[in-house]
Amino acid sequence: MIPAAFDYEVAESTDHAIALLGAREDAKLLAGGHSLLPAMKLRLSRPACLIDVGRITDLSYVLEEADSIAIGALTRHKDVTAAALLREHCPIVSHAAGQVGDPQVRHRGTIGGSLAHGDPASDLPAVILALHGELVARGPAGDRAIPAREFFTGVFQTALAPEEVLVEIRVPKLGPSTGWSYTKMSRRAQDWATVAVAAVVERSNGSIERASVALANMGATPIQATATEKAIAEGGSIDDASALAAEGTEPPSDHAASADFRAHLARVLTKRALEEAATR
Ligand SMILES: Cc1cc2nc3c(=O)[nH]c(=O)nc-3n(C[C@H](O)[C@H](O)[C@H](O)COP(=O)(O)OP(=O)(O)OC[C@H]3O[C@@H](n4cnc5c(N)ncnc54)[C@H](O)[C@@H]3O)c2cc1C
Repeated sequence: MIPAAFDYEVAESTDHAIALLGAREDAKLLAGGHSLLPAMKLRLSRPACLIDVGRITDLSYVLEEADSIAIGALTRHKDVTAAALLREHCPIVSHAAGQVGDPQVRHRGTIGGSLAHGDPASDLPAVILALHGELVARGPAGDRAIPAREFFTGVFQTALAPEEVLVEIRVPKLGPSTGWSYTKMSRRAQDWATVAVAAVVERSNGSIERASVALANMGATPIQATATEKAIAEGGSIDDASALAAEGTEPPSDHAASADFRAHLARVLTKRALEEAATR
């Protein structure tokens, strides 16, 4: 439970962090430390250098833009949970941030760390995917916006380049005809999802016209339940659409659940999520 030796640098600004990433071999950013430090203690991760970005206060914010809400990557889960702008315009994000771990985790962990870590079992990646959000990476060449559907590339892998810092997450403002649900099943209250479903739906005359459904812990990355989405778009019932939720997924088998049970959970939780989103 003791990490391998590492160097430690404090980044005074985002540009400083980018410069340090370019200057140091095998360096990793340290944000809240609630995924990286446990991995280092288990020697699953052995960076030669940690670059502490935790003191860069100007990357902690929630701001209103014309059609979206911008969230600074270093905003802690507790602040995402409490953010009035998110609660008003995109409540699925604040709700899901409140489902992360326990109060201690939410007081240290950041939304950017959660996304950059690329853990398919995490809560916020599935939510940002279902929202078709955008992630802004800053590197030596400037900023680039990455659609959420292109960001998650594998287990603990993302589209971020080694010298890039994730600086902002953008989510759409949801209108009055948009419903949502984040439905999570875990074995213990503070655990990662055994399976979770994020659903964002467009309603008309009391029924769902379109749905965006993303699954956590059903494969190497958060996954869009495309068969379910297609069934809804073609006028299928919630029962019929949710029965397709596990199509095209490759869920893991581990101490929490077998792959078959996860597939069952995906169908059941998708049904619950769509039913909730239809009325919320
Ligand atoms: C007991 C426990 C329970 C937990 N339960 C849950 C849960 O139920 N659901 C859930 O989703 N998560 C859970 N977590 C994880 C938690 O949400 C972490 O806070 C989060 O995954 C990582 O955020 P962090 O700020 O701590 O990142 P860190 O651990 O500091 O970093 C994680 C990774 O992201 C990189 N990184 C961090 N910030 C940036 C950035 N701005 N740009 C580029 N790279 C960056 C780091 O280099 C590192 O590779 C739990 C953690 C613990 C310890």
